[in-house]
Amino acid sequence: MLLPVFTLKLRHKISPRMVAVGRYDGTHPCLAAATQAGKVFIHNPHTRSQHFSASRVFQSPLESDVSLLNINQAVSCLTAGVLNPELGYDALLVGTQTNLLAYDVYNNSDLFYREVTGDNVHSLALCDFDGDGKKELLVGSEDFDIRVFKEDEIVAEMTETEIITSLCPMYGSRFGYALSNGTVGVYDKTARYWRIKSKNHAMSIHAFDLNSDGVCELITGWSNGKVDARSDRTGEVIFKDNFSSAVAGVVEGDYRMDGHIQLICCSVDGEIRGYLPGTAEMRGNLMDTSVEQDLIRELSQKKQNLLLELRNYEDNAKAELSSPLNEADGHRGIIPANTKLHTALSVNLGSEAQAAHAELCISTSNDTIIRAVLIFAEGIFLGESHVVHPSIHNLSSSIRIPITPPKDVPVDLHLKTFVGYRSSTQFHVFELTRQLPRFSMYALTSPDSASEPLSYVNFIIAERAQRVFMWLNQNFLLPEDTNIQNVPFQVCFTSLRNGGQLCIKIKLSGEITINTDDIDLAGDIIQSMASFFAIEDLQVEADFPVYFEELRKVLVKVDEYHSVHQKLSADMADNSNLIRSLLVRAEDARLMRDMRTMKNRYMELYDLNKDLLNGYKIRSNNHTELLGSLKAVNQAIQRAGRLRVGKPKNQVITACRDAIRSNNINTLFRIMRVGTASS
Ligand code: CA
Ligand code: CA
Repeated sequence: MLLPVFTLKLRHKISPRMVAVGRYDGTHPCLAAATQAGKVFIHNPHTRSQHFSASRVFQSPLESDVSLLNINQAVSCLTAGVLNPELGYDALLVGTQTNLLAYDVYNNSDLFYREVTGDNVHSLALCDFDGDGKKELLVGSEDFDIRVFKEDEIVAEMTETEIITSLCPMYGSRFGYALSNGTVGVYDKTARYWRIKSKNHAMSIHAFDLNSDGVCELITGWSNGKVDARSDRTGEVIFKDNFSSAVAGVVEGDYRMDGHIQLICCSVDGEIRGYLPGTAEMRGNLMDTSVEQDLIRELSQKKQNLLLELRNYEDNAKAELSSPLNEADGHRGIIPANTKLHTALSVNLGSEAQAAHAELCISTSNDTIIRAVLIFAEGIFLGESHVVHPSIHNLSSSIRIPITPPKDVPVDLHLKTFVGYRSSTQFHVFELTRQLPRFSMYALTSPDSASEPLSYVNFIIAERAQRVFMWLNQNFLLPEDTNIQNVPFQVCFTSLRNGGQLCIKIKLSGEITINTDDIDLAGDIIQSMASFFAIEDLQVEADFPVYFEELRKVLVKVDEYHSVHQKLSADMADNSNLIRSLLVRAEDARLMRDMRTMKNRYMELYDLNKDLLNGYKIRSNNHTELLGSLKAVNQAIQRAGRLRVGKPKNQVITACRDAIRSNNINTLFRIMRVGTASS
């Protein structure tokens, strides 16, 4: 059994995720953690903290080996690392909603203090994603995507089902991730190796080789106080421990300074435990015997259940041999051996009572009934599972289940269907998996040129028509009698979400035109075709008049916000000078014992102060608006990129950024339309 090699109980609460180990004097590893009330504490068990004496840092009145750093603002990010290799020691970096402080703990001085603004990024990690020996930047964002950046190019995007709260490199191209819905797992490049979902929240993840087999495990600290180490390959738990409160952070460091790195786990109540990796004698066996006994108990329970199931099968087989089936057999869960289960996915245009949706129809091949259906699917149902359990009066041999995926991503539906008779107390369970196509929320409609969207993308692919039909069939829910054989052809769809039109036209020359006003949908379709047909590079011509017009307005606003910002900054500088002189004059008046003038000066100061506060509010609003607009511009560039594939995609993004930098709006729109700045 792996036991902590040290346990500390600090008398400070630790804010979730705000934990960092650093060698702030270049030698001694110290634990820094943010605590409530805008403070950061530094636990230094190695030396008396004589260095910490001046302004920002003060000695904890509770503990002699803890120093406190006043931030006076809630800390939203904390980390430690070498900023200046010449210094030879770690700086402590403290982020708040508005500022970033780089702090030299050893010399008790600010390295820098900058105004910054938070964005929609929730997690970052460096990992050699493509195995070329250089690390790429992984970014987990609010929009459920993990993006991989090589310099400023996005080289891969993986869509998850919730906000990505943490990312950690494991080794090679493998990395761990955690979502805000209690999911943790491991990716290798773009492929997900495994994942598990808990009803608790993963507070912190960290890669650490706890069983000394040379490969890091994924260590997760949970909101219920559990810490577990899972195999990077299988997700199997190889070690777990429990804290009495939520885990705040999982880090590593040589905290005892004996040359061995420990895994260090901290709870929100200030309990710190350090674990050394298992020794060779333990042979990777990190859990105690009680855990083994738990496992044996669990396995014998499984064995019991399987034996019971086997006996049922044997009884059923006997009954079926001896006589034809009757109601009494159904009671025991016996159904005809040739019973088959059909599943069909289709589009339901809805009614007054029910919005349009995709529909899963499950039916049996005889008079057996469906008692219940369990569906497991990511990102469609709250809690990832859905149970359909008709009332006893509505039992029949078929069942229709509405499905409304919120995003256009392909989803596997894992189905468990309970089949039997009305009187059955035991049921036969059919297990099967169906894939919901990526564009299942689009209904095939007859082409109507009057409502054809003005926006379009246009490109040429060298593919046989048959293959394009295959792509259509695989990605849309086409009615069974759909028969498209001849080029040129045109198919039109209506979005079940907003009624928007989508038309796909293919000419003999291999030219494809897609009409839709939804630039994201156009991008999704192009990316889907590119991966289906294994297209590496695709140049695309595009026009989205309404969207581009909106973007033009945003760009005009950005200019306005910039000039307002400059004017306000100048005003503020003027006011600051005025305040300085008013203060001096008020002080002069006081020395002259001219109380009336002094009072007047202070009245003026008071008014000026009010103006300054108002000015600040305007500046702050202006800043927020500016950031919102810049975000929209950046999003537009990414969208224009997603309409292309491979090199043309990267060229569009780079050229758009250049156009923005040189403030060349017309060039920007030209690039977004034709994919290049040159004519
Ligand atoms: Ca790389
Ligand atoms: Ca290991």
